[in-house]
Amino acid sequence: AGRLQGKTAFITAAAAGIGLASVETFLAEGAKVIATDIDEAGLKKLKGAITHKLDVTSTDAVSALAKDVGPVDILLNAAGWVHHGTAIDTKEEDWDRSFDLNVKSMYRTIRAFLPGMLEKKKGSIINIASGASSVRGIPFRYAYGTTKAAVIGLTKSVAADYIRQGIRVNAVCPGTIETPSLGMRIDTLSRQSGKSIEKVKQDFVDRQPMARLGTAQEIAWLCTYLASDESSYTTGQVHLADGGFAL
Ligand code: NAD
Repeated sequence: AGRLQGKTAFITAAAAGIGLASVETFLAEGAKVIATDIDEAGLKKLKGAITHKLDVTSTDAVSALAKDVGPVDILLNAAGWVHHGTAIDTKEEDWDRSFDLNVKSMYRTIRAFLPGMLEKKKGSIINIASGASSVRGIPFRYAYGTTKAAVIGLTKSVAADYIRQGIRVNAVCPGTIETPSLGMRIDTLSRQSGKSIEKVKQDFVDRQPMARLGTAQEIAWLCTYLASDESSYTTGQVHLADGGFAL
């Protein structure tokens, strides 16, 4: 405990999955946590964090909230959306929504919080990318994989620009993680394919060399390391916590 003592963290998509596990772990390590999500009911269940409703697709909302909460030490960009489709069946609106929610959201939060970090001459930004990105090409992840590769490019660019000003920026690539959104994907795929829920879930397990899904906690531990001073010599990198997905 205490690895994040004295630090303030701002987290997007904090009401479920990887964001939620990170809220809980950061709190346990002594951070002050500002947890944000569009899901207000989900936020209400969080104990110990300061919560704010935030839709990361709104530039105005992100900059207004950043002004309101003031400077932070840690920014964890967890918001992201999985579109299922190929180059032929991905509609333009789904492509645009993928970029808006998965990439432009990070443009917004980084622009809003980086000035405060530069004033402190210190900050850690953690962007959740994915194994489906420039790391691996995965079937039916055309828009998603493209956006998550963009997250890696964005991460390296910001890291390079501010490396001498105390700012560290890292990307985390989870493998297949048991979260509410994965559960919804399994339900949808089962309905569309006529396969049972168990079979669809097994297909996700089978693509993991460790032969199991990851937990949100396993990603939160990596985020905690990257948020803490333990990783003070680490920036601009892609960190896999993927159960061997990239092997
Ligand atoms: P999740 O489904 O468990 O939670 C997503 C959260 O995002 C929800 O609380 C939802 O309300 C919130 N959200 C949705 N739209 C939003 C918006 N416009 N503004 C703010 N919040 C919004 O998610 P998860 O599976 O833990 O995914 C978190 C991140 O990890 C995403 O970027 C995702 O792409 C990435 N990721 C997940 C997996 C996986 O297998 N679950 C694998 C690789 C990467």
